Amino acid sequence: MTEPIPVRIRPEIAALPPYRQGKQAGADAYKLSSNENPFDPLPHVIAAMQAQVGANRYPDATASRLRGRLAERYGVTPDEVHVAAGSVSILYQLVQAAAGPGDEVVYAWRSFEAYPGLAVVAGADRVEVPLTADGRHDLAAMAAAVTDRTRVVIVCSPNNPTGPVVTQAEFDEFVALVPTDVLIVLDEAYAEFVTREDAVDGLRDLGVIRPNIVALRTFSKAYGLAGLRIGYAIGHRRVLDAARATAIPLSVTAQAEDAALASLDAEDELLDRVRTIADRRDRLAAALREGGWQVPDAQGNFVWLATGEQTLDAAATFEAAGIIVRPFAGEGLRISVGEEESVEKVTRIAASIVETLPERHSGRRLRWET
Ligand SMILES: *Cc1c(COP(=O)(O)O)cnc(C)c1O
Repeated sequence: MTEPIPVRIRPEIAALPPYRQGKQAGADAYKLSSNENPFDPLPHVIAAMQAQVGANRYPDATASRLRGRLAERYGVTPDEVHVAAGSVSILYQLVQAAAGPGDEVVYAWRSFEAYPGLAVVAGADRVEVPLTADGRHDLAAMAAAVTDRTRVVIVCSPNNPTGPVVTQAEFDEFVALVPTDVLIVLDEAYAEFVTREDAVDGLRDLGVIRPNIVALRTFSKAYGLAGLRIGYAIGHRRVLDAARATAIPLSVTAQAEDAALASLDAEDELLDRVRTIADRRDRLAAALREGGWQVPDAQGNFVWLATGEQTLDAAATFEAAGIIVRPFAGEGLRISVGEEESVEKVTRIAASIVETLPERHSGRRLRWET
């Protein structure tokens, strides 16, 4: 029996499960459950962090050095950039700012696990629009789900956990269907891993900032700074002001800002690593398909196996073999692209699991498909 809460809590919050992190791995296991970067930070990024003294002082509340640097890079003004403790923080800020009781937040489902909580915490209603059978956003259905009550629509490209992108053409068509006073958040946490030419890019052609679109990026994944908590948004100044107004002040540490700046200095080297991970992802996805899996187009640093009813059993099989994956019960497994040595192991275990699935299981590649 669950212990009762001793004080009065909003019932919808009390019903919300606390955040569950991907399992921590033992020393000899590969942790492929949180889409982390398998590479350690570069030595000079570590040096930049360590050079920060003065932990007795509060950081610069607006991360102005990093905002200036990003503004220059994308050809926008510093107030069209917002920095926060991870892009998840910015999602919370934007949803808090735009949606309250009686309003609706629309997003695709299955998508990023944080989205349902964003709406609930704001007191808004969730509108979840099912993905297509191949794990893609159904943007026509999402546009059709927008009502007078909709305040925010979240588009996740590449979609976590299934992998496919939204194309630029699809996104533009979608934007044209959504009223211009509805905020569209384009969550591009994995943008740097994308290799498809036709993918949406929220930071392309920023000469014209579309007033109702905010693009979110993070240093957590491609830049390997997940533990430091730093991400950013680019969008209309007044929309970002609303996010800044709801932010918990002083959450971005000076260490995180310095590490982000040092990462931008070392960008070529970091993007080489990103290419290595993307190549590894493509080899992993190809090997899984070869082994009999139907793998959706993988454009992030992870792959999706639609294990369905067999999900928890499959996750246990991986774990017993020293691979920690992220199971979504009844749906599928997300496996991050980690160390090179993990690729062959994942492929082998996955091939043994597919053999145990029923002939017409949705995770299986049909024999006549390529
Ligand atoms: C990881 C992730 C984020 C952001 O993570 P932060 O560490 O908070 O920057 C945002 N969106 C999606 C879809 C993610 O997978």
